[in-house]
Amino acid sequence: MPPRPTVSIIDVSPRDGLQNEDALVSTADKVLLIELLIAAGVQSIEAASFVHPELVPQMADAEELMKRVPRPSGVRYIGLALNERGAIRALEADVDEVNMVVAASDAFSMANQGVDAFGGVARALRVAELVADAGRPLSVTVSTAFGCPFEGEVPVARLTELVGAAAAANPVRINIADTIGVAAPTDVAERIAAVARVTPEGVDLAVHFHNTRNTGYANAVAAYEAGVRTFDASAGGVGGCPFAPKATGNIATEDLVYLLHRMGVETGIHLARLVEASTFLEGPLAKQVPALLPKAGPFPDGSVSGTSV
Ligand code: ZN
Repeated sequence: MPPRPTVSIIDVSPRDGLQNEDALVSTADKVLLIELLIAAGVQSIEAASFVHPELVPQMADAEELMKRVPRPSGVRYIGLALNERGAIRALEADVDEVNMVVAASDAFSMANQGVDAFGGVARALRVAELVADAGRPLSVTVSTAFGCPFEGEVPVARLTELVGAAAAANPVRINIADTIGVAAPTDVAERIAAVARVTPEGVDLAVHFHNTRNTGYANAVAAYEAGVRTFDASAGGVGGCPFAPKATGNIATEDLVYLLHRMGVETGIHLARLVEASTFLEGPLAKQVPALLPKAGPFPDGSVSGTSV
């Protein structure tokens, strides 16, 4: 069988993961987590969100964290921004890439950013100028791309109209996010095909899945089969969903890596070392991570004895 196209994984555990955990993880522990991710071969890390510390206390140390992270060559730190102020802070903190978030639905955009969805795109275009002036790449994440907690269904036509408008920001990557974890693989196939038609040549199309309803890994496979080669995931599957307080977080990086490797898809990530990163997190979070690979272990080497039916 010829080798299958490889994928890049962006580990979002320091940002989307820890932002949605109750525990406040210290800057020192965040640095340790990032060091373990890098040791496992992770090269793209969504490290922090530059939002108001009163809104998201878990991210209050964004600047301090960026001062303390290691900077080996090949490792790229992504900082998230919701507006110009956040983008300026991210650039001053020397992130390698600014990720600007826009929402596909008006109600979510109003709740999160105080403007409707196309007002959010206009803001993204202003952020794009700041980021371009600083000589840094910009990526755009489109949240609620598969459904909105306030509006419910988000029509495919709305999503493609919004992505088409956001493409004017000249992002290096457009990331389609299932913010509340409602998608099924059929939605993924349909929406990736539709979004790909309005994504300019050379712009990487990525996905961001939450495993809120246990469809996240099936959705990742559907996205891979639809041609997506960049995936967000969080070590341990840490995080959550603010609209489903008891729910789990992002798809777990190690469970995704296991699945992809068994499919013959290389990620450049060392699975056992990655598990060290997620099991480390269980200390500061004072709980088991939702990922299953740390519990089950890797594919058996044939040395296990015992019987079962
Ligand atoms: Zn998310």
